[in-house]
Amino acid sequence: MSDLGSYSSESDVLGYLDGRRDELVRLLSDLIAIPTPNPPGDNYKPFCDFVADWLREAGLEVGVHAPPEEALPDLLRPEAEGQRYAVVGRLRGLAEHPAFCLQGHYDTVPASGDWESDPYGPQVVDGKLYGLGSTDMKGGLASMMMAAKALAQKKVALRGSLHFLTTPDEEFPSRAGLAYFLEKGIVDPDYVVVGEPSGVRNIHIGMKGGVWGDVIVKGRAAHGSRPFAGVNAFEKMVEVASAVRTDLIPRLDRRVSDYDFHPLQGNRPTLALGGLVGGTNASRATVPDRCTVSFDRRLIPEETLAEVEEELVSFFDDLQRQDDELSLEVKVSSKAPPMVVPADSEICRVVSDAITELAGASPTHTVSCGGFETVLFVDRGVQAVTYGPGVEGCAHTAGEHTILDDLVVTAKVYALAALRLLA
Ligand SMILES: [Zn+2]
Repeated sequence: MSDLGSYSSESDVLGYLDGRRDELVRLLSDLIAIPTPNPPGDNYKPFCDFVADWLREAGLEVGVHAPPEEALPDLLRPEAEGQRYAVVGRLRGLAEHPAFCLQGHYDTVPASGDWESDPYGPQVVDGKLYGLGSTDMKGGLASMMMAAKALAQKKVALRGSLHFLTTPDEEFPSRAGLAYFLEKGIVDPDYVVVGEPSGVRNIHIGMKGGVWGDVIVKGRAAHGSRPFAGVNAFEKMVEVASAVRTDLIPRLDRRVSDYDFHPLQGNRPTLALGGLVGGTNASRATVPDRCTVSFDRRLIPEETLAEVEEELVSFFDDLQRQDDELSLEVKVSSKAPPMVVPADSEICRVVSDAITELAGASPTHTVSCGGFETVLFVDRGVQAVTYGPGVEGCAHTAGEHTILDDLVVTAKVYALAALRLLA
């Protein structure tokens, strides 16, 4: 295709999206009005039917996928109810590859807090749309769907194929979420943008890692009237927690990452204690012989899981050596390595250039403190970044909203990135 041809299709597609702002707002309103709180996973069927019909009408080939009913008990947690679906919209080019996939989850957290309006009754006020999931992440889905529609309607000649994929069970993860459907091979992309809210002038190029587990202090039980006869595991834990605060955490604080972070103060490793606290809980008149406190240790990209686990173990070993009466155990229950996509990777360059052209400023590249499903693609060797509309800090809260102008800009960024990767 000549340069002239590709430029004219770019301006055609972008012009189409500029003219469809109202349709985009209506689409997002429709997505919010089908509540999909998880747990338990309500209305997944009507939601996916709506998305599938919309995509078909937009001119895409559509597939709806679900695990076999008999597999569900093994895949879902007890709080979950009903079937899990993934919807794929496909725009075929000359070849299957390169394939570019726009992906997002369609479940939301359950409504909580004091909503002034109906969380499932979307309202537009002053250029913002209020409703549950507007930021996390039905806004991203709506922008992606409109981008795919623009390419389909303008009948742009594509070299490779464009996929839109929406999947369940991100907010309250099960084994029937994105990982399941990737395992089944319903898409096989080379490039991915996950539309979680990053801010319109920011790309999440990576995320922190984590090591999660428990510290268990063992004491010696005694009657509460004779504490001198026992070793109080709770009191020993207080000393352990205090050492973590005064010795280990300051050490982590001095380890500043070279990357930019979102939020900014996340640019160093962190350790949070006490999300789960347990113990003997026998009676008030018992000296406890056991105290358990969970930990959540987040890694910057410069750290490795092996180093961090070794640091934890040797820190707690040292404490034991200094106190004959202290007996403790560290149990790691899960872990995930940090992940960063190189800034000079093709996906990062193409999306960055599109943002620079369409959002009026070159984007920041940040590592996110929280985790996204993007990592599931990166683990499979796919180039994937996180970029989507939404308002910082309002996800999962009453009054969740998104900015209408940003929905249009992100839809245009998705479309332009698709054209540059595929046309
Ligand atoms: Zn989300």
